[in-house]
Amino acid sequence: MLLIIGFIIAFIIVAIFARRGAATRGCRWREDRTGDKGSLRKYRCMACGAEAFTASEGPPVTCKAQGRPPAL
Ligand SMILES: [Zn+2]
Repeated sequence: MLLIIGFIIAFIIVAIFARRGAATRGCRWREDRTGDKGSLRKYRCMACGAEAFTASEGPPVTCKAQGRPPAL
């Protein structure tokens, strides 16, 4: 019985982490100030190499190069 409860708790933890990972899609945005265009800030994804511009604070929410294999 204790084992079953342990499995359920482990499953919930995995589900929480999986949902958190889906929100960012594994992208790690880094600011690239050399590529700034006026008020637009350039961000480069360290995970897949995508480039994106944002006018608001913070990095882009979604990845611009989904489905592409990660560029190493
Ligand atoms: Zn990406």
